[in-house]
Formats: sequence, C-alpha cells, structure tokens
Amino acid sequence: MKRIAVYPGSFDPLTLGHVNIIMRGREIFDKLIVAVSSTIAKDYLFTISERVEIIKDVFKKNNAKIEVDFFEGLLIDYLHRKGASSILRGIRTVSDFEYEYQMALANKKLDESVETVFMMTEGEYSYLSSTVIKEIFKFGGDVSNMVPKAVVSYLVKKLK
Ligand code: ADP
Repeated sequence: MKRIAVYPGSFDPLTLGHVNIIMRGREIFDKLIVAVSSTIAKDYLFTISERVEIIKDVFKKNNAKIEVDFFEGLLIDYLHRKGASSILRGIRTVSDFEYEYQMALANKKLDESVETVFMMTEGEYSYLSSTVIKEIFKFGGDVSNMVPKAVVSYLVKKLK
C-alpha cells in the first residue's frame, strides 16, 4: 500500500522551516502532498494560488514524491479524496504543541484510521514562522537566510 501523507498549512509564505519538514517528510512517505489551506479567518499576504505557485516554484527541480495542492473545508475530507492516511505537521514550541495536540485529537475523532505524524523543527529553524518573516521583510530586514531564494522575489514583488 502506498503511504500518502498530507502536509497542510497556510504557507504564507513558505519558509526554510517548512522546506525542512517537507524534505524530511518525503523520506518516510511514498508521496507527500503539500496542501495550502484556505482558512477565511486569517488575513493572508499571498492568495491561495500564489502560495501554491510559490511552493511549486521552489520544488520545481526537486519534486520527486511531492505534490502541491490546496484545499477548502475539512482536512479529513481532503485526505479521503486524496487517498491519504497521514497528516504531517511540524512542532517548534510548547504553544505549537497545544494547538497541534488539539487538532490531532479532533481529527482522530473524525477518522480514527488517520494518524498525525509530528516532526520536531531542527534547531536552526526553531524561531522561523511566516509571520516573523513578513514582519522583518516589511521593515526592510534581510530574510534571505530564512526563506528559499525564490520566495524573496515573491515578497519583493508583493510589497512593492
Ligand atoms: P498553520 O496556519 O496551519 O499553522 P503554517 O504555514 O504556519 O500553517 O505551518 C504549517 C505547519 O508547519 C505547522 O505544523 C507548523 O507547526 C509547521 N512549521 C512552521 N514553521 C516551522 C518550522 N520553522 N519548523 C518546523 N515546523 C514548522
């Protein structure tokens, strides 16, 4: 049986922390679907299609076992549509843990065959979040060692 996992997130925009989880995640699954979620509640810098385009661009030469997509509605329903059995998520801090714990239990309640797999951030990425990057960039700071090279160009274009 093929092991398909979904890595859902806002990815607004993709950071080197996300890239690290994707690279490690694809080692343990046959296919990893990076799925941009469209929560209306949040205020995003990039549209869903821009976020999908950015991730596709970053992985265009290195896309073995990776699919990039977006979804609306319940994550569990999306997993069913894609024939996926696992959810991949990254953990940085204790506050990440609390949120992730709740989501994992809720998803388990909706479908007990689905497993959420957590990966700890690697030390050098532990402080990285899309929010921090947007803040630094907005005030003219250098984010070139926090996001993939292509993402810097998308940020420049967006905030010009
Ligand atoms: P969401 O809005 O769903 O939290 P994010 O794009 O912020 O979307 O994050 C997607 C996933 O990636 C989450 O599981 C988050 O904990 C994880 N993640 C984000 N940044 C890092 C990082 N620097 N190291 C490890 N995991 C990360």
